[in-house]
Amino acid sequence: MRVTVIIAAGGLGTRVGGDVPKQLQTVGGQTLLEHALKPFDKNPRIDDIVVVLPEEFAQTPPPALRTVNTPVRIVAGGATRQDSVAAGVDQVGSDVDVVLVHDAARPFCTTDLVDAVIDAAAETGAAVPAVRASDTVKEARPEGGNGLQVICATLPRDSIFLAQTPQGFSLNVLKNAVELGRRGVEATDEAALVENTGHAVHLVDGDAANFKVTTSDDLARAHDWVRRGTTGERPTVRVGIGYDSHRTVAGRRLILGGVEIQHKVGLDGHSDADAVCHAVTDAILGAAAAGDIGQHFPDTDPRWKDASSIELLRTVVEIVAERGLAVGNVDVVLIAEYPLLGPYVPAMVEQLSSALDVDAGAISIKSKTAEGMDAIGRGEAMAAQAVATLFPR
Ligand code: MG
Repeated sequence: MRVTVIIAAGGLGTRVGGDVPKQLQTVGGQTLLEHALKPFDKNPRIDDIVVVLPEEFAQTPPPALRTVNTPVRIVAGGATRQDSVAAGVDQVGSDVDVVLVHDAARPFCTTDLVDAVIDAAAETGAAVPAVRASDTVKEARPEGGNGLQVICATLPRDSIFLAQTPQGFSLNVLKNAVELGRRGVEATDEAALVENTGHAVHLVDGDAANFKVTTSDDLARAHDWVRRGTTGERPTVRVGIGYDSHRTVAGRRLILGGVEIQHKVGLDGHSDADAVCHAVTDAILGAAAAGDIGQHFPDTDPRWKDASSIELLRTVVEIVAERGLAVGNVDVVLIAEYPLLGPYVPAMVEQLSSALDVDAGAISIKSKTAEGMDAIGRGEAMAAQAVATLFPR
């Protein structure tokens, strides 16, 4: 059986806010369109994907579409969703048995739901996932000229279902429906057109998680779901490790964790040689798989001569933010024989929590000595180890 999915991403809707269409807005570092593609890309029964984009985006498709493993064709959409889906159907090969149509604005569909729709569509010719209405449904219209709606009927809730996508159809059933649409029948989903052709449309159990992002509240809910890992689609916590050491040298200030410490020697280095900040920087970059401190702030670059490392840390937070990530917590081991660093820890925590934009409770710094054993133990160097977690923002 050959199965094609058409992803309807042709709208320019900005009701969710922002200056790009909602399907290209980012949730947890990926666009809604990328989230929407995943359950199909992962499902081995899907042979190919047709993505219908607004004409201006169809010329230069979003780079993320290149990471999809299933063959993808990009099609320029029309003025309405119905026109866009029709343009997608024109691209479907005549050997295809089942065509699914899915909204790009539904980021949390599962491969199980995709399977259920394919099975039901193959068996019956037309199947739609739907959830039962849980609230009592009222029909109302404005009356009395005061702008208020007045109820005219209470619908029997047991027979009310809220339709979702992907909607699945055998190719000829969908083509007949599209033909009806081209003759002037308007509908808000493909199932309604199919109903109009007289073909029975069957329901499969939908999924409350498969909600559609329409308003800014929906977008906030989608952010929240990804952050809390409700979708199960991607790992929500990323961990990184960092290490740094510097020689002690006379005539330099000693800066650790963004705090100047009174001591007879400082740490040698191109920047301020703040080993705590450098270890934390590498832990954060590591958690994002975004390289290391030397790549982002090379010591051959005069811009970083005597640079304040706590300020570099603010830049690193911006670098990972561009990848859709934010710091969760940081744990540091600081190893120095002298001076006694415990009294400086609260000030370091304060500096790091400000630079990383997290609560002080998310920062831990433990200071230790090397028990006189090695170069650190002889006071010739200091070192820091750090781990950091990152979360989708
Ligand atoms: Mg360093």
